Order: sequence, then structure tokens, then C-alpha cells
Amino acid sequence: MSELSAPVFDNAYARLPERFYTRLDPAPVVAPALIALNDGLAAEMGLDAGWLRSEAGIAMLAGNVMPDGAQPLAQAYAGHQFGGWSPQLGDGRANVLGEVIGPSGRWDVQLKGSGPTPYSRMGDGRAALGPVLREYIVSEAMHALGVPTTRALAAVSTGEEVLREARLPGAVLTRAARSHIRVGTFQYFAARQDVEALALLMEEARGRHYPELAEGDALGFLQAVVAAQADLVARWMGLGFIHGVMNTDNTHVGGLTIDYGPCAFMDAYHPAQVFSSIDQMGRYAYQAQPQILVWNLAQLASCLLPLMGEDAEQAIEDAQEVLGGFGELYTEAWKRVFFAKIGLSEGGDDEVALVQDLLTRMAENQADFTLTFRAMARGAGAREQFVDPTAFDAWAKGWQGDEAVMRAANPAFIPRNHRVEEAIQAGNRGDFASFERLVEVLQRPYEDQPEHAALEAAPTEQQIVRQTFC
Ligand code: AMP
Ligand code: MG
Ligand code: MG
Repeated sequence: MSELSAPVFDNAYARLPERFYTRLDPAPVVAPALIALNDGLAAEMGLDAGWLRSEAGIAMLAGNVMPDGAQPLAQAYAGHQFGGWSPQLGDGRANVLGEVIGPSGRWDVQLKGSGPTPYSRMGDGRAALGPVLREYIVSEAMHALGVPTTRALAAVSTGEEVLREARLPGAVLTRAARSHIRVGTFQYFAARQDVEALALLMEEARGRHYPELAEGDALGFLQAVVAAQADLVARWMGLGFIHGVMNTDNTHVGGLTIDYGPCAFMDAYHPAQVFSSIDQMGRYAYQAQPQILVWNLAQLASCLLPLMGEDAEQAIEDAQEVLGGFGELYTEAWKRVFFAKIGLSEGGDDEVALVQDLLTRMAENQADFTLTFRAMARGAGAREQFVDPTAFDAWAKGWQGDEAVMRAANPAFIPRNHRVEEAIQAGNRGDFASFERLVEVLQRPYEDQPEHAALEAAPTEQQIVRQTFC
């Protein structure tokens, strides 16, 4: 039998100056137990899944025992939350243990729900089981759907309760990502006029996400983030995904989806759809996401200005030009995504109008976003998604899409809110069968899995989830 091996951590972020973080070990929990381990991701990260499943591994995933060489820390960041400025946020319930370097490069290993930190403010530093299961399910589904995202390596239950709207079982999620650097991380230092830190941070982010850029190329960095984020949000739109909390601290400079709080996938299509209980003004509604993103990217641009050379006026002009390019990048990405959804590999203004006409009819007819497009790929059943099926017939006259293109663009399976909710409710009772099934099925979202047809279906009137909570 071969020896199991503990992860070997590198600590690049911990080598940055102390003002980037607070060194801090996770707070131990009473009775850790493994709920889920992501073997595929462990392999990608070069981690020994056998060790992670061992008592020592579970102790690490719970934050109880740190392996040699881990230098856990809570990262400092700031951010605009619903447009309001918070000069100090930071990891209030997370510790980055360090980075592992596997066959696919460097990965941050972060425990979320791992105890209070200096950035906890009024929070308890913990996570309830439900949100941990949600993040595990949805982030791994996003990955399988082809959307850049932070990943879920593991979930453990803590044997402790957390107080939310009720007493709920607690859990810790192990999140993995190339980095956890956010627009808000740049804002933290920009607000303190700490240009030295900004330069170091940009270099760390460039190395992790955009190694092809030259060192110190702040304009190139801005351009790369703008392009990655434009592409990301177009992909969200193509899946009916609503992030729910597009604060600048939840906008990742590597173009990853990060922070699965009150996020949701739409069932029936409506452009103004909002799920988050805390988004009462609809700031982060489905259709608002691209504009909100531009606003967030403008905050990043302003942080980067001091790194764009001596000539301040020129820097502003250059940054504005990059931001001004967002519209075209987003439109191009949107076209790629939505043309494929109707089975076209290219198109112009007429095809844009065709997609928009379809979306308008879907909104007017409460058509299920996912089922409508998947049915189009199957060549049957789309019209039945419309309250008035002739609305689809009229649209489809003269339309012909390539089935293979549509199959690859239109998933059969998304993490439906009511299914996620069901998995959480069962998990709260100690039954993880629904969770496991959902995770399994969502690894192959573009394949027909007739034995799991129930997970494709739209919710019944009673099953509809109208609000989500973080
Ligand atoms: P979010 O809305 O998830 O982006 O979180 C915003 C800020 O609140 C971040 O600084 C989090 O670390 C912090 N936070 C969220 N939940 C908790 C909690 N239970 N305890 C401490 N801090 C928290
Ligand atoms: Mg957050
Ligand atoms: Mg959150």
C-alpha cells in the first residue's frame, strides 16, 4: 500500500507584505465529518484524495489541524456593497491555507466558514450547512457548464450549530481557485493610496491569471480583466444565471464567478427577474448584470490609474478607452452565446433581432429558459413551453438551427432552485442522497440522462422558489 501524502503548501500570498492579510489559523470545530470530496478536482490540483479522506485530511478540511507548511491567513479587501462604499471588508469567515502547485498550476486552498477573523464585523465567522451545499452544487455545476468559477474541493459538517433564522447545522467548504483576488482587493489599497501595494497586488494577480502580460502592464491588465469579465457575464446570461450580489468584492479579477450566496438560475424567463431577498431595488436583476459589471470594472480602472505611468491625463484617457471597449466585447460574447443557443455559428443584426424576438416572446409567455432552448436542440417540445404556443410557431417560421450546436450550448440540467432547496432541506436532516445525486447529474449537464428526467423539469407552482437568501 502506498503512503498517503498531505498537501505541500506554497505561500505566495503570505509572502506579500503583512498589510495584505492577517495571519490566523482556522478555529477548530467539535466533530468534523466529511460530506463530500471532489476527486476530480483533487487530481487536477495534485492532491492525494486518499489523504484528504483520512482522519488527518478531514481534520485539515475542518480547520482543526494545519499541515506543516500551511500559513493560514484571512485576506484584506474592501468593496462597494449595493453601491455603498465599505473601506474594510476582508475574509470574515474564511482562511486561505496557502497554495498547492499541481499538474495544472497554482491553486489557493481556502476554508470558508472556518471561524471569526479580524474582518468578521458582526458575523460569527461560520457557515450554515445549507449555503455550503449550495455553493458546492452550484459552483461545480457552473464548472461543468463551461463557466469560469471558483471550485469546491470538499464540504465537511462541523457537529456544531450556527444561529441564523433558526439553529442550523454548521459546515465548512473548501474552496479552490487560482486566486481570491477581487476588484475589492485593489480598492482596499487604492483607498489607502498605497501604490506600492497596488503594484504588488497587480503582479500577483497577473502571474496567477494573465502570465502572458508583461510585468507592470496595468493597462493590459485592465484590458484582460474587462475581456474576461465580459465573457463571463455573457455566459451567465446564456444560462439564465443571476449572481445576486455583484458587489465589487464579489467581482474576481481573474474573471471567475465567485461568492455563491443568493444566486439562482431562472426557471421562467423574465429579464427583470430577481431572487435575492436583500436586493429589494433589483440592482442585480438578470438584465442589469452587464451594466453593473461595467460599473464594477470602472472602480477597478480607477484603482489602477496610479500604475499607468506618470502622465495622469493620458492614463485616464487610456483607461476610459478600455472601459469604452466593454460594450463591443460584451456584445460579441453575447452573440457567440445566444447564436449558439438557437443553433447558429455566426450572424449579424438580423440574427440579433431574431434572438431578441424569441426572448421577448419567452418573457410574454412564461417560457422556461432552460427547457425551451433544450427542446429546440431536441427538435420537439419548445412550443409547449409557451402559454400561447403559437407565439413560438410564429417565431420559428423560417428559423433553422444546427442541432449539434444547440445541444452543446443548451444544457438539459441546471441546478434548479427547488432541487437545490430540496437537497439542502434533506441535508439539514442528515440525508445527503439528494445532494449527491444532484452533484453527480450536474457533472454532465449537456448530456441527456433520461433516468434523471425529474431533475430537468421546471418546478410545479408549489415548488417554485421565489426568494433566495445568503
Ligand atoms: P458577501 O456578502 O458574502 O460577499 O460577504 C460580505 C462580507 O461579509 C465579507 O467580508 C464576508 O467575509 C463577511 N461575512 C459574511 N458572512 C459572515 C459571517 N457569518 N461571519 C463573518 N463574516 C461574514
Ligand atoms: Mg463575498
Ligand atoms: Mg457570500
